[in-house]
Amino acid sequence: MSSIYVAIVGLFGLAVGSFLNVAVSRVPAGRSVLRPRSACPRCATPIAARDNIPVVSWLLLGRRCRACRVPIPARYPLVEALTAILFAAEALRFGRSEVLPAALVFTAGLLALAACDAEHFLLPGGCSTRLSGSPPRACSPPRRPPAGGTGSA
Ligand SMILES: [Zn+2]
Repeated sequence: MSSIYVAIVGLFGLAVGSFLNVAVSRVPAGRSVLRPRSACPRCATPIAARDNIPVVSWLLLGRRCRACRVPIPARYPLVEALTAILFAAEALRFGRSEVLPAALVFTAGLLALAACDAEHFLLPGGCSTRLSGSPPRACSPPRRPPAGGTGSA
């Protein structure tokens, strides 16, 4: 498999990782992943395109919002980078086979669930049932941490 192909799939993973961050932030709250545009959760300043480049913008901005300087959690570049690395690894493993798109979708779903669980101690039912192929009626309520607990097993 050519290294250019692997790099392209990895770059696609960066973009998907950026979208996963939006989903992780909004889906547990029942908000749309499409609208409104991404904005700083503290000062509500919309995030400009130049500040929305996966991993790079986080580093160039000094890990802080351009407008109010509130720290941007490391979860954002971590999810983006991990998605890119896993996508590139899957491109290496599966090449240009018809298995690759399914593997990428499954990986993205698992990453979204893992990030939701790590940040919110919550596994959104919609994501879980779509990944497992179960019908929505079989959806169980989201897992929540015990009262006063840390959410760890
Ligand atoms: Zn801000």
